[in-house]
Amino acid sequence: MKSLVQIAAEVSGYDPQALPVAQAREFIARLVPRVTAIEMLPLRSALGRVLGRDIVCAFNVPAHDNAAMDGYALRGSDLAADAPARLALAGTGLAGQPFCGDVPAGYCVRITTGAVMPAGLDTVVPQEFVRLDGNAVIVPPGAVRSGDNRRFAGEDLAAGEAALPAGRILRPADLGMIASLGVAEVPVLRRLRVAFFSTGDELRSIGEPLDAGCVYDSNRYTLWGMLQRLGVEVLDLGVVRDDPDALEAAFREAAACADAVITSGGVSVGEADHTKAIMARLGEVLFWRIAMRPGRPMAIGRIGVRPDAEGRIGARPRAEERIGTRADTDRGSASDGHTAILFGLPGNPVAVMVTFYAFVRDALLAMSGASVEPLPMLRAASATAIRKKPGRTEFQRGIVSRASDGGWQVSVAAAQGSGILRSMSTANGLVVLGDAQGNVAAGESVDVLPFDGLI
Ligand code: AMP
Ligand code: MG
Repeated sequence: MKSLVQIAAEVSGYDPQALPVAQAREFIARLVPRVTAIEMLPLRSALGRVLGRDIVCAFNVPAHDNAAMDGYALRGSDLAADAPARLALAGTGLAGQPFCGDVPAGYCVRITTGAVMPAGLDTVVPQEFVRLDGNAVIVPPGAVRSGDNRRFAGEDLAAGEAALPAGRILRPADLGMIASLGVAEVPVLRRLRVAFFSTGDELRSIGEPLDAGCVYDSNRYTLWGMLQRLGVEVLDLGVVRDDPDALEAAFREAAACADAVITSGGVSVGEADHTKAIMARLGEVLFWRIAMRPGRPMAIGRIGVRPDAEGRIGARPRAEERIGTRADTDRGSASDGHTAILFGLPGNPVAVMVTFYAFVRDALLAMSGASVEPLPMLRAASATAIRKKPGRTEFQRGIVSRASDGGWQVSVAAAQGSGILRSMSTANGLVVLGDAQGNVAAGESVDVLPFDGLI
């Protein structure tokens, strides 16, 4: 396994004191391992899960050429360009009840949508285009062209083809497609386990009195929400004091029960010393000043977990070292040795969310085994001028709406302080201004990451 320093050496432009966002993302992408364990789930339970193996079609879908319209199946060669075709009716084929007889030239078959095309027939004329004359069907010239309104066998999915690739996060259309292959159970990757805790002597959990100078811990709620949306298993380990022993115990416990550990707070200059000393005992850590706003300080690390002589891993923090509540954790399934990845996020509530979306989201998806696609951005005209320094990436909270010309426009929030969660709640997207970007003039187009589908 490469050390963090070796990985850093592979990232061009790596400078821990002024790390560009793209380089931080590249570093993380090189660092994170992927889950490989597969479990079989009933089809519906697989919604939102990551496909563990390709789904290969065992047969053609549809299995036969079939009608795309209700009408009459015929031979295109019986149609004339300039005169009505008069065809005799040989019978009826319904969806699920195919017409199996022979159809001689000059004959047609009444057919419904989805019914198998009778042998030799290649065209369907919709019923509203024809006239009936006793047992004869009159097709006016030009009503259809040869081959119209026929679906081909295998045009949806061909036998032997990979219908869905491993790494796909299963969406409703995928469930339907898998069902069309008659597959009842789906191989999915096991869910990623992510533990998180907040650090800070000033933090109080909901339900506790708010002592002077204290704030309620909001990061555990935004993190919980963002992690839920990613579909990972979430383990809330509460609030941990700025105390080396309590922090070490929390890191050990988190790493023991999870693939990834997210902390908030305690990575800014001064506070980071605790974390540095602890991580030197538990694994490796790098501290970054990222060229971004909000969210400059961040730590990235790796905690090795090895079972002790009794097969236990980690040490449970003593109760008195903890503040607030914690959820029950599933420790059983992580009883072997493994490595947990640490994301040490800044403490400010908006910085937590922005760094999560900038770095942690894609990293967790990659760890989950998912193929990670870049998030779609809107181009929107800025309603106002925006002050922006080149040399860092800024994520500004904004409100996107339809402009009178039908395009998108975005108004950035006046309050962009990284502690002002309210403007994050009011916003419906983040304006992303890249490293090279300077001041933005009113009316200039900017990239916006919409929250819909993200948050
Ligand atoms: P830190 O990064 O620990 O220096 O924290 C930066 C700022 O964020 C301080 O004002 C903290 O009080 C605040 N903060 C840190 N963690 C939390 C949290 N979990 N909930 C709300 N505010 C927090
Ligand atoms: Mg702090």
